[in-house]
Amino acid sequence: MKNVVLLGPPGAGKGTVAARLVQEFKFLHVSTGDMLREEVAQNTPLGQLAKGYMARGELVPDEVILSMVRQRVDAKKGVLFDGFPRTIAQAEGLERFTTVDLVIFLEVEQEEVVRRLSSRVVCSACGAVYNLITQPPRVQGKCDQCGGTLVQREDDKPEVVARRFAVYMRDSAPLVAYYEGRGMLRRVRADRSPDEVFQAIAEVLRS
Ligand code: AMP
Repeated sequence: MKNVVLLGPPGAGKGTVAARLVQEFKFLHVSTGDMLREEVAQNTPLGQLAKGYMARGELVPDEVILSMVRQRVDAKKGVLFDGFPRTIAQAEGLERFTTVDLVIFLEVEQEEVVRRLSSRVVCSACGAVYNLITQPPRVQGKCDQCGGTLVQREDDKPEVVARRFAVYMRDSAPLVAYYEGRGMLRRVRADRSPDEVFQAIAEVLRS
């Protein structure tokens, strides 16, 4: 199985589509955002280090991320990288311990992602993601899957969203040209329903 990177701005739908791709294609899911949130929740030394960066919408330092990912990657399984790499240095670091076969770039306008992030809520127990406008839970405030309480992520508050965008444009957007130059990038329009985005990516993966 191939190693695939999901690239795109915050709110492009990486986490949502990753959950379905993992089910369908049996990837090992490596979401650095989820891993960091778990470390913060457990108050580990890594969590304590990451917390401030995350609250400000800044990136956690490359070396920290690379060592965390390196420990998680399993050479025997295809990996779906979600929210990683986020800098050229991370992309270069990743190539030192595993290969990348394909990069899916989720393309969406900034206006649309701001709208999505401001209406996003997540389950505080299992991490499932909802959108109050386009994908509301069946029961208000409760997770469809586990019944957990739905909350807004601290970093989805408007001030932090603006910072995350600026950081994305400065540090992560150059990855598009980086991977395009290597002939590894496939663009997928992400201004569509989660199901359409999933189908489009599934088609790329099957081809
Ligand atoms: P995400 O859930 O992917 O939006 O990540 C939430 C936050 O975790 C980001 O705003 C960063 O502070 C941090 N983070 C996640 N992935 C990375 C990464 N690959 N490099 C640096 N920081 C990251």
